[in-house]
Amino acid sequence: PEGDGGNGSVDGDATSRNPFEGLVSHLRASWLSGKTRPMEYRMAQLKALGHFLDDKKQQILEATASDLGKAPFEAELSEILLCKNELHETLNNLSCWMKDEQVDRTLAMQLDSAFIRKDPYGVVLIIAPWNYPIHLFLVPLVGAIAAGNCVIVKPSEVSKKTERLVAEALPDYLDKDCFAVVTGGVQETTRLLENKFDYIFFTGSPPVGRVVMTAAAKHLTPVTLELGGKNPCYVSDTCDVTNVARRVAWGRFFNAGQTCIAPDYLLCTIEMQEKLLPALRKAIDDFYGPNPRESPDFGRIVSDKQFQRLRALLGSGRVAIGGQTDEAERYIAPTVLVDVQPLDPIMQEEIFGPILPIMIITNMDEAIDFINSRERPLAVYAFSSDDKVVNQVLERTSSGGFCGNDTLMHVTLPSLPFGGIGNSGLGTHHGKFSFDTFSHHRGCLKRGMGWECLNAPRYPPYSQQKFGV
Ligand code: NAD
Repeated sequence: PEGDGGNGSVDGDATSRNPFEGLVSHLRASWLSGKTRPMEYRMAQLKALGHFLDDKKQQILEATASDLGKAPFEAELSEILLCKNELHETLNNLSCWMKDEQVDRTLAMQLDSAFIRKDPYGVVLIIAPWNYPIHLFLVPLVGAIAAGNCVIVKPSEVSKKTERLVAEALPDYLDKDCFAVVTGGVQETTRLLENKFDYIFFTGSPPVGRVVMTAAAKHLTPVTLELGGKNPCYVSDTCDVTNVARRVAWGRFFNAGQTCIAPDYLLCTIEMQEKLLPALRKAIDDFYGPNPRESPDFGRIVSDKQFQRLRALLGSGRVAIGGQTDEAERYIAPTVLVDVQPLDPIMQEEIFGPILPIMIITNMDEAIDFINSRERPLAVYAFSSDDKVVNQVLERTSSGGFCGNDTLMHVTLPSLPFGGIGNSGLGTHHGKFSFDTFSHHRGCLKRGMGWECLNAPRYPPYSQQKFGV
């Protein structure tokens, strides 16, 4: 099947035979053969994914360092350890998740069996972005394999070294009849999406999410969309400023800000801003030293296009911390902007880089109104030493996920569903939520052949008397 589009090569002529048709039908035939259904098969493939992570650890660290200047510690944590957690959780629980779920029956069905079967969908497509180029295809892949599907993985063409590593190494670990990697960009993905899949799991930007959902609609294919947006971070007047600054700076500047759930902007009073600025300056200095460009722990922007976009955003408001850039290295210093207005360019799009604007509000109600006046984000963050304030923000806003008094950490728990709402996405994954996402919940009733007298009332000729009324 690799020859059938596995290298992503495309002839570009929309009227010709689809270059991925052969691959998709090969995978469909494998799925129909029932090969992926036994638990032992799924577990073997999942364990092979673990071996891929172990054997290729060094290459993964090198590829992500080359693509994103990712610090080895950050890469090991986000690209390897979190994937292994997911594998561990899935391998430990798969037999339980796969079991038929018995459900309540009516009096007349006491002799029958009613249950929910977790059926695989069939052939699944996973499309991933570049910011965590291993994690963001591998974690959904764990769920898709666990649920018994055949899968095509389409990594991002922007993180080039990692894309090549995945395309060359991953197929050696998985059953080639059931799992394939397709490489390429917009053109290849467009052709790929013309095929009928049974489920599409997309991670990326909201505009491309719309493109994917439109393509899926042609085949009535269900989708999960893991998208992005601007994640607000409210900081109340009562909190430990040093801890807030460290937790916010870590979440904003991890992976040079290229994280879908990074706190995108701060909302606080002018008094809190005055306390936060020196604390943020100190946190940045503690983490990356006086010149973050020389820190081995601070990343780079993935592409020239992203670098130019981010540099233009530095024109919003006034630089209070950082602001230095170096085009040759695609370096943007950890930056904090003040005097930012709601209509400034930086407040119109997801930043996705190491820039943190501060928006001034006068109180919590105004912060909540501001959050609710915008698209629903992937994450809302609230910091306060008063639990009531954190609860108020939780109760009066809507977002994919929520984290009180910290940033990013909710994503590390496989026991929590991860996903967006509205403009930030549709559906969830992680742990059992992934398994359920990639399983069709098939409602099943199995009846005995006897006791026909119990069925008599429902047959014509109809009569109220047969029901005893
Ligand atoms: P993107 O939407 O540009 O690309 C994502 C994938 O879609 C890539 O594989 C790309 O090749 C493909 N693609 C791009 N344009 C396409 C088109 N016109 N037709 C078909 N396929 C196309 O996103 P990106 O720049 O790679 O990633 C950044 C975005 O992803 C941000 O918005 C970020 O918030 C979001 N994101 C979300 C999550 C999450 O879990 N919710 C995680 C990481 C990133």
